[in-house]
Amino acid sequence: MFSIFPKDDHSQTLRMQRFLMAFGSYIGSIVLIVFFYFQGVTRAPLSVVVIGLSGAIVSNILIYAIIRTGLNKRFKDPSLTLLQMVIATFWTMVLVYYADSLRSLVVILYMVVFVFGLFRLKVRQYLFLSAFAVVNYASVIFLLYKIRPESINKKTDVLTILVLAVALPWFSMIGGYITNLRSRISNALSTIERLTNNIQDVIFVTDMNLKYNYINPSVKILRGYEPEEVLKQELSDSFAPSSLDLAMKTIYEVVESGKSGHKAFKSQALQLEIGRKDGTTVWTETNISLVIDKNNQPVGILGVIRDITERRQMEEKINYMATHDTLTGLPNRLMVSQLLNHAIQAARRNQRQFAVLFIDLDRFKIVNDTMGHEAGDQLLKEIATRFKQLLRTMDIVGRLGGDEFIILIEEVKDSSQVAIIAQKILSSIIKPLVLLGEECHVTASIGISIYPIDGKDEQTLMKNADMAMYFAKEEGKNNYQFYSKNIQAQTFERLSMETHLRRALERNELYLDYQAKLDYKTGLITGVEALLRWKNQYLGAVTPTQFIPVAEEIGIIIPIGRWVMKTACAQNVTWQRQGLPPVCMAINLSLSQLKDDNLIEDIKIALNDSGMEPNLLELEITESMVMYDSAHMIAVLTKFKEIGVRIAIDNFGTGYTSLTQIKRFPIDTLKMDRSFIRNIGHNSEDKAIIASIINMGKHLSLTIVAEGVETHEQDDFLRKSSCDEVQGFYFSKPITPDQFADLLRKNNSSS
Ligand code: C2E
Ligand code: MG
Repeated sequence: MFSIFPKDDHSQTLRMQRFLMAFGSYIGSIVLIVFFYFQGVTRAPLSVVVIGLSGAIVSNILIYAIIRTGLNKRFKDPSLTLLQMVIATFWTMVLVYYADSLRSLVVILYMVVFVFGLFRLKVRQYLFLSAFAVVNYASVIFLLYKIRPESINKKTDVLTILVLAVALPWFSMIGGYITNLRSRISNALSTIERLTNNIQDVIFVTDMNLKYNYINPSVKILRGYEPEEVLKQELSDSFAPSSLDLAMKTIYEVVESGKSGHKAFKSQALQLEIGRKDGTTVWTETNISLVIDKNNQPVGILGVIRDITERRQMEEKINYMATHDTLTGLPNRLMVSQLLNHAIQAARRNQRQFAVLFIDLDRFKIVNDTMGHEAGDQLLKEIATRFKQLLRTMDIVGRLGGDEFIILIEEVKDSSQVAIIAQKILSSIIKPLVLLGEECHVTASIGISIYPIDGKDEQTLMKNADMAMYFAKEEGKNNYQFYSKNIQAQTFERLSMETHLRRALERNELYLDYQAKLDYKTGLITGVEALLRWKNQYLGAVTPTQFIPVAEEIGIIIPIGRWVMKTACAQNVTWQRQGLPPVCMAINLSLSQLKDDNLIEDIKIALNDSGMEPNLLELEITESMVMYDSAHMIAVLTKFKEIGVRIAIDNFGTGYTSLTQIKRFPIDTLKMDRSFIRNIGHNSEDKAIIASIINMGKHLSLTIVAEGVETHEQDDFLRKSSCDEVQGFYFSKPITPDQFADLLRKNNSSS
């Protein structure tokens, strides 16, 4: 459909509007002329009037067509103001010619039209138009003077020419100034408009009553509303319910700071959630400040709203990463600490109890070492999933690192409720899972502390749950333990043992006792076992079964073992130097020593330094140690054999190794565990086992030693069963080196 205005062209529409205004004044003039003609005010013939009016209309139609088609854009002055003014001046002069007595009225009208041009033309164009008008007017007057002298009033007309000649250039100067000013203002405005239109931030201005004055088009992108829609809304409509109170409070503070009269106006930046037209929300950083007028008076509020969704997402991601364990997605130590503190506050307020369960997987290190880290990771993930499935949504499960998990059980009524949950957790962990294609069973130990009885703060609750967990481990793993004062006492003891043990070597608190081994056939002492002892001034005598596992755990068994080796070898040589017969020295090794690459070197050094024959040294290892990584262990044991050292399997029968498996290892001696010997006399089954071990051992050419022989009955049975050697209190307890020297001298000379 035809439209008067060009479509989608703002500046052309403006030009058209101005043209139509000018055209309106033409129509007004035409009506006046027709009116005056019929009143007989002018003597112009009808033909002149018709031609004149038609000419004016045609010239306007032409200008309209030029603007409507956009042809004007090719001109230097696309508004065509000068052209319109020149045409208007021409028609005015025609009017002047025929106006006679109304000539002054026409001149006044022209002045009005000229003023209309004031807002458009430049100085140069004005001067040209002025000159054009003055020359035309003077020519018309001169023409009239020549043709119709009676219509001339010499004084008035000459004066009019002079006034025009002076006034029009003066108008030109003013017009030029105004045009200049207009274009500067419009340039500044369009720059601001361009800026506010192109800027991504939403900028809005309100008055001091928070009524919108302005908002830029970016609001469409941020909120989905057109700026015109927003201008009709209240400022408070912008904010999502979560941010409404904060936003309005802040805005009122800023407004109040403006009203207070102090010059310290407030400006605030805050993160707010803004509502969108589609019902969603977007996070923004919003700056609110006062708009100050030139008298330094606040007149409104200026707001700048920036979309920070991406930044917030990134912040949330970073925050998530900082507070969650990447492997399992569970809250990490940091987050657990926050949640625990939160739980403490809530429980304190509501006078409730809650439980902290400290969970540590049993033997996780072995899975990691033997099956690899990937399998370990898979195991941890699976356990985390089981925990999540098992617990109520209100309970919290987190991973502290390694194989340590924490579970917070909220709203606990009594410990039996927690015990049921702990049992469920143990049952869920032990369910079989497939790692690297093999079905595995994992167990865990759980320590439990309860708020507020076992601690009122994070540290105490965690420490006590941890202590209880250690206790659960000591109680044989795969069980749960509640924290109690008794556990605390035991843990203190252990801590104190750890501290003193670290210094035991340098403080010469360690020494060795020796227990003889007797050969049944010859009745001679053929061997001796070095047994480690520790006497501390505070703890007294601590048994090796107590302190050796601790030394292993804190990693000092290696230097201690090295010391045992050197001391025992040196002692053996000392006895020989005292004229005693050479005996075989048995030394116990622990798993860490066996895994230590330097062990072979340490043995060589001990042998070299002491000068002891390698075949007099026997290393005692347990079944479980060789089974740990059997292929590697065979290689290690073979190296021992290469330097001529003997190898004994200690505590044989307590593990699950059969004699056929033992056969694969290059060993010399088998020491039957004390637990079998103890039952001789009560248990015929054990007797049968002993007999078969001795029998099969002989077939494999092993020396069979019976450990822990305490009674005559036991001794008699073993002797009759053709056991090779005996070690036990019945013959001799572990004794000092001097006592052993006496025993050896007496026994071997009398036999
Ligand atoms: P083990 O190697 O089985 O040592 C024999 C243990 O049985 C010794 O206990 C000894 O005193 C005890 N025993 C010997 N005969 C009898 C008896 O007739 N009746 C009873 N009830 N006990 C008897 P001890 O000295 O307390 O040593 C305990 C364990 O500590 C040893 O068991 C060994 O595994 C470990 N151990 C001792 N010294 C060392 C060492 O230098 N290094 C390492 N890694 N472990 C050591
Ligand atoms: Mg031993």
